[in-house]
Amino acid sequence: MGAQQVRDVLGVRDGFAELYGAGPEGVWSAPGRVNLIGEHTDYNDGFVMPFALPHTTVAAVSRRTDGRLRLHSADVEGPAVELGLEGLAPGTDRTWTAYPAGVVWALREAGHPVTGADIHLASAVPAGAGLSSSAALEVVIALALDDLYELGLQRWQLARLCQRAENVYVGAPTGIMDQTASACCAEGHALFLDTRDLSQRQIPFDLAAEGLRLLVVDTRVQHAHSGGEYGRRRAGCEKGAALLGLDALRDVPQGGLDAALAELGDEEEVRRLVRHVVTEDARVERVVALLESGDTRAIGPVLTEGHASLRDDFRVSCPELDLVVDTALTAGALGARMTGGGFGGSAIVLAEAADTDTITKAVEAAFAAAGLTAPRVFEAVPGAGARRIG
Ligand code: ADP
Ligand code: MG
Repeated sequence: MGAQQVRDVLGVRDGFAELYGAGPEGVWSAPGRVNLIGEHTDYNDGFVMPFALPHTTVAAVSRRTDGRLRLHSADVEGPAVELGLEGLAPGTDRTWTAYPAGVVWALREAGHPVTGADIHLASAVPAGAGLSSSAALEVVIALALDDLYELGLQRWQLARLCQRAENVYVGAPTGIMDQTASACCAEGHALFLDTRDLSQRQIPFDLAAEGLRLLVVDTRVQHAHSGGEYGRRRAGCEKGAALLGLDALRDVPQGGLDAALAELGDEEEVRRLVRHVVTEDARVERVVALLESGDTRAIGPVLTEGHASLRDDFRVSCPELDLVVDTALTAGALGARMTGGGFGGSAIVLAEAADTDTITKAVEAAFAAAGLTAPRVFEAVPGAGARRIG
């Protein structure tokens, strides 16, 4: 166990004991994620390729037998929130507690005998930065309860339950990528995930060994996931699939994009969405092939192409994300793109290790010159998926 992890475990154990009067039964962690490539494809049954951040959400948890749920986050002011399991209902909670309560609700709805819990958590995943603090929060609770109540669920099943918690209980229409990434990623790897059947392959992704680095640039622009834009894109994709007579845009056959676009006629908005999703699925497959053949540098231009598609066709970028990408490329990056849902949040930048200082300074200077809040820049090294740590 690394020093940071020891501190995390001790910190939440102490916090738990202070709140609830006795130590927890255990401590679990679940990471945030960065998506390397495959954006807005997960609700189209397509491909994604996230990897786990070293930043995690850590939860100390004990069972209860009295149907009560007590929730506390070190990152939120105030005392523990106490809820009764019988009263849990979708759409009733507009605060952070909807995420963990939603997981308990989803488990019970699926017939799992969860009879209550005391929970105290703390997170190093920046919230609302497109790095999936929400999934980290859901998955850490799901894994803890799966362990404590000996439910024997598979990782992909935990991810599905967490997605249900977020979609139905919280009311945010997200795909399955974030929860699967947090639950299933492996250290030193990116996760090639087929969101249709959740089949997956761990792809070695060791940038340091090749003299490369991947930077995450959090623009500090808060995105609003449950907001209308995401829902509109999603609905547009569903309309596209319906017009084409397909279950999902994933089913546009390889080489069939032009025919599909022709079939959509003057539905310009839908055509643009379809073009992004279909070309993005192909980009994921290209990145997998390049990484598996050891040609890591060559993924740079594919990432940049993905950004252009999200900016021009899917239209989910924003001036701050474009500024990161343009500045990084001008300063010598191999590739750069927005990551996550868009409208703010974070961008990723792939660069030669020797160039990252220059690129970071250039991005910071560009933000200062534009009068923007200073971005938060850090290096992302693929970390472990959710696990018990204490
Ligand atoms: P993202 O997943 O990109 O970080 P979301 O809007 O999906 O952004 O989720 C962020 C929300 O998750 C926060 O507004 C908060 O309600 C909840 N959340 C995340 N981390 C924590 C935490 N450590 N403590 C309490 N709530 C959290
Ligand atoms: Mg989220």
